[in-house]
Amino acid sequence: MRHWQDIPLWKGVSAEEWNDWRWQWRNRIESVEQLTEVLSLTPEAIAGVKKALTRVRMAITPYYASLIDPDDERCPIRLQAVPRGDETAVMPWESVDPLDEEADSPVEGLVHRYPDRVLFLVTEQCSMYCRHCTRRRIVGVTDKVAPPERIEQGLRYIREHSEVRDVLVSGGDPLTLSDEYLERIIRALREIPHVEIIRIGSRVPVVLPQRVTEKLAAMLAKYHPIYVNTHFNHPKEITPEAAKACAILADHGIPLGNQSVLLRGVNNCPEVMKSLVRGLLRIRVRPYYIYQCDLTWGLDHFRTTIAEGLEIMEALRGHTTGFAVPTYVVDAPGGGGKIPLNPQYILSMGPDTVVVRNYEGVISAYKEPHYDVTERMENGKCRLCGGDHKGSVGVAGLLGGTKVSLVPEGNERLSRRK
Ligand SMILES: *Cc1c(COP(=O)(O)O)cnc(C)c1O
Ligand code: SF4
Repeated sequence: MRHWQDIPLWKGVSAEEWNDWRWQWRNRIESVEQLTEVLSLTPEAIAGVKKALTRVRMAITPYYASLIDPDDERCPIRLQAVPRGDETAVMPWESVDPLDEEADSPVEGLVHRYPDRVLFLVTEQCSMYCRHCTRRRIVGVTDKVAPPERIEQGLRYIREHSEVRDVLVSGGDPLTLSDEYLERIIRALREIPHVEIIRIGSRVPVVLPQRVTEKLAAMLAKYHPIYVNTHFNHPKEITPEAAKACAILADHGIPLGNQSVLLRGVNNCPEVMKSLVRGLLRIRVRPYYIYQCDLTWGLDHFRTTIAEGLEIMEALRGHTTGFAVPTYVVDAPGGGGKIPLNPQYILSMGPDTVVVRNYEGVISAYKEPHYDVTERMENGKCRLCGGDHKGSVGVAGLLGGTKVSLVPEGNERLSRRK
């Protein structure tokens, strides 16, 4: 991390300006010319930036740019912030909306995929445009806040759907909104009786930590329970500034979680990830998810294999604090949602013994008890919850009753049957 006074572009900037998020916002790096004053770029790298900028935009906060090692082309901060020509390469399996979010949007800017919670996209702006953004179809095209009618429409949907008990406010980055505008949205959500919790997804603590002020945190704390999930990808992002932003939120009783994305050349290494999750706990942020990189267009150069993700999980579980270990998920292409992936810990299952292995490779037998698993049911009711347990969930639910197999649509073999 360099002092800004040592960077030609910001030589005369005062501490007051530098620590003011509005100054940071106004002075984001958006052109190649500014970029070359902050770090050394080879002619190929410059050509790459220019090529990428024909398709996607760039904005880097001066703060985040100051974390870049100016002479290291492989600096993990640089890779997340500075466009590369690779971003224009589009693979046949990539798409603008790999998670099919549009298909699960009952109203524009709201995704209702899971039974009891929704994703509410309240803005298309971010303070920095991450090179690996999965929502680049909407984010950072122009700096745009969702129009008030769209917010109102989303709120109306939530009001009318009493099953929604959890609203995930995201975007873009909701913390780029003014305190007043954000408060209007949060207050309206809090006024809906069935909304139990409000979550905010924001990268601001990582890329523009100055934005997290006492005033912002005090405003959010009025509407508890509020949770904030942020997005650290590398231990180098855990700076005194980021730590302070997280401390302000945590001191206001806001539980903090983190969602990382596996990115080739940035964090696809067990040691880097271990150091990241430990660093997060030190600043009171609980690791929540590690995402497999989505099949969004132009991200092939960032993608890692699932085997590498599993290797990372193997290196975390048991080797460090249990609650430092996030859940590794692949967000299923086509809108299937998040699917957790784990190394295999069960080696075999016998009639009364399950053989498991631990993180060190020690193999153990767990002896299972013998009892009638239906004993919890009494006169058709569960003794624990009082329900009838009719209709199991998930795959078992699909195979309930007389159904014994699931066959994909258009199966050729079955079509030959008489
Ligand atoms: C990730 C996500 C959520 C929240 O999922 P959790 O597992 O509850 O954190 C909700 N809606 C959509 C569309 C999502 O992608
Ligand atoms: S902060 Fe999030 S939404 Fe914004 S560019 Fe980065 S990854 Fe995309």
